Amino acid sequence: MYGFTYGDGITLIHFKAQSSRLYTAGDSLNCRYIRAHFKSRGGNAAQYIEASLGTLQDCAEEIESFGSAIVALEVEPQTYSLCRGLCRTLKRLDPDIRIIWFGEWVGKLRDMDPADAGADAFIMAGPESLLWRLSESDKESWRSESDLKLAGEVYIEEMHQEAFSYTEAEIEEDLYLLDRLSSPEAAKGPGCTVRWADLQGEISKSKGLRRYSASRFARELQQEANRGDGSPIVVEGFELEQSPQRLLQGLDVLREYATDSGFEIALSSEQLGWIEPERLAALNIAVLELIVTDSDAFRSPETRNRLTHWKTCRANVRLRIKLDEKSVLSGQETAPALRDWLNAGLIGQGDLTIRVNGPEKTKLDAETAELLSVCTGGSDPALLNGYLAFKTGQYPPQVLGSGVKHIAVSEEHVAGLARLEPDQLMGINSAFILNENSVCKSEKGEKYIDIEGVVKQTREWYRPIDHELEQQRQYVPHVHAEIRNAADGMTRLEMSEFDFGSPVEIGLRNYREASEPADKENANGRGLEILQLAQPADLDAFMEDVEAFEREGRFVRGYQVQGYVADSCRWSAAGQCPIKQLPRLYTEADGEVSGCGGCSAIGRIGDSYDALQREAAAISTREQLLRGCDGCEIRDTCSKCTFLPGYMTRDQYCDLRKRHVLLHRYMQVAQLLKGLRQYTAVFRDIDIREIGVSLRTCTHVLPASYASEGDAWVPDHLFVLFVGGQPLLYQANGGKLLKLSPLMALVLEAGIKGLSEMSLRRAISEVFKADEAQAETAARQVGLKLDEMGILSASRRAS
Ligand code: SF4
Ligand code: SF4
Repeated sequence: MYGFTYGDGITLIHFKAQSSRLYTAGDSLNCRYIRAHFKSRGGNAAQYIEASLGTLQDCAEEIESFGSAIVALEVEPQTYSLCRGLCRTLKRLDPDIRIIWFGEWVGKLRDMDPADAGADAFIMAGPESLLWRLSESDKESWRSESDLKLAGEVYIEEMHQEAFSYTEAEIEEDLYLLDRLSSPEAAKGPGCTVRWADLQGEISKSKGLRRYSASRFARELQQEANRGDGSPIVVEGFELEQSPQRLLQGLDVLREYATDSGFEIALSSEQLGWIEPERLAALNIAVLELIVTDSDAFRSPETRNRLTHWKTCRANVRLRIKLDEKSVLSGQETAPALRDWLNAGLIGQGDLTIRVNGPEKTKLDAETAELLSVCTGGSDPALLNGYLAFKTGQYPPQVLGSGVKHIAVSEEHVAGLARLEPDQLMGINSAFILNENSVCKSEKGEKYIDIEGVVKQTREWYRPIDHELEQQRQYVPHVHAEIRNAADGMTRLEMSEFDFGSPVEIGLRNYREASEPADKENANGRGLEILQLAQPADLDAFMEDVEAFEREGRFVRGYQVQGYVADSCRWSAAGQCPIKQLPRLYTEADGEVSGCGGCSAIGRIGDSYDALQREAAAISTREQLLRGCDGCEIRDTCSKCTFLPGYMTRDQYCDLRKRHVLLHRYMQVAQLLKGLRQYTAVFRDIDIREIGVSLRTCTHVLPASYASEGDAWVPDHLFVLFVGGQPLLYQANGGKLLKLSPLMALVLEAGIKGLSEMSLRRAISEVFKADEAQAETAARQVGLKLDEMGILSASRRAS
């Protein structure tokens, strides 16, 4: 966070939807204009910045601690629901705090009462100067402001006009309104944005349209180009330009200040006709967004030909489309054009956004929904990754510690869900998981787009939760449902309404079942599988696989790498138990809640996050004292699982972990190979049985007759792997994969076993048929090389 201010002044908030309903709090050009305006007058404007958002309550408390009298939120359709949730929480915390909404979309909310959104007022035009005046005056005098819509006002009598339909004569009077503003500060993150024109509301004299003169635009552009970070400079507002001459003048400025990384601009299909194809091709445009307000123009062969010509002339350029809601409604006309553009390679996945004008739902036929979903990007992998973290208990460290991420809910608790107080308990980017129960029946829902511009699908099980939380004015996060199909035994994971896409097929099996002989030949796994250790027989099967891995230094069944062991955290390395940060909660019978599925309770529904977290941490600390973890020989590699399943005592757990000292390595390598098989062809295309791993118990170049002699002098973040006989080194701290010579592999294997220099030289002589002097030289040279490459320092090796 930066820009703390106390006392009066304002705090600005801009939420950014990274994907459907996964948010960060960041900066924006509009906020930068406002800060510049305040700064030029000696005022304070702070910006709330947070990449990893906690609960709504945490977020509100943090914003309140800035001490500003006014909190101003830039609101967009995609962030409407979150902003409304935050405003309600802020008002509960401090009823006197003054909340104002602003932004292009807010300027069109003529029919909405700010009070319904938890705000005191909406700014309809000119946010910079208006916010400044409001911060300088008491609330009573706000009534005299003409471009401000106060809570309680539901309608402003003003002709609604689309920005695109303005005639030049109407706006001539306020031609260069942007020139009157101070230059925005430099962006504090990556990416530069410059503005040609903007649209702030529709009720001012200029109907909200503001422009720079060409000379001022050139100055702003030059400044940003000097700050360039290698990514294209985003130029906003060309699409609002009504005059062909002025548009061409703006494009000439772009040509004059061309940068290597190019520009990202938006143009309407009509504007495209104003620019000669050669002129367009000569501009260094990296990304062109076509604004489609009229499906006829979209279908016109002329538009298609112009863009095909542009893409042919310039390599590596990207075309995106922004479809207006009206064009989506005429799906039967728009869909064929979209399909044609997709097939012709003019656009691809993720190249379409939809601009929604009002809160109403736009129904879609199945074909259009499918097509729009492909073009807009479809399902979000982040949601599936979140679900897998919930099942395995393995969360990325950066998301821990700011509210519960997932709550498993059974049918009987849906009715009283609001008593959990998700606003206080759950992180903003979190989800409920409806697990196997009768409320989850799969059904074919209606497809539609609503305020967030995302293709969605109604799901029967979603409505009761939405209704329950809405009634209690609680924010509705994601909801996923596990749906068990009795016929094929598969579980299907259906994402919430906010994620349109086919259900994800998941095999949810007990470990023993997966290890049945029939599956032994299935060396590369059977798709996405979650393997549960539900009873002692499953645990035995799992341990048999671990023992085989320790013995042979390789996995022999596909599911070991392809599958996800439920509650992997229990078997992982030290520091992998997340219970003290409480990322998961399960609702249990009689209103109790637990932190790990099927384990003892840590509190009841209605308990606060702090109380539950305290209790989980206290039990965990007590348990470690009882077991004597501090003096345990494997304390540096054991995750010290506190909450054990019913069939396992603490002694049995400790005994198992001590007997299998490489259990944590097994889990690490399985996780590593998952990633390598996903991202590198060499690992993806090979049978899992052909991949070897060097361990203390099994080496592949160093003869087995060399027993371990002391502690390893190769650190744990180095993994020596063999693919079809080729030794490789993976450095987990930098994510690098390197080819190794057999000699280097032998030296590293000797390090894993903690061999002395003398034993190492003996091994080199034996394996490479070298005499003593040659072996000594080879060992020294490899040592120097590993040191030089920053892989293994000489001092560590000597220790
Ligand atoms: S094996 Fe038991 S005593 Fe040893 S660190 Fe693990 S949990 Fe603690
Ligand atoms: S207590 Fe055990 S199951 Fe629960 S989070 Fe920690 S390691 Fe995982």
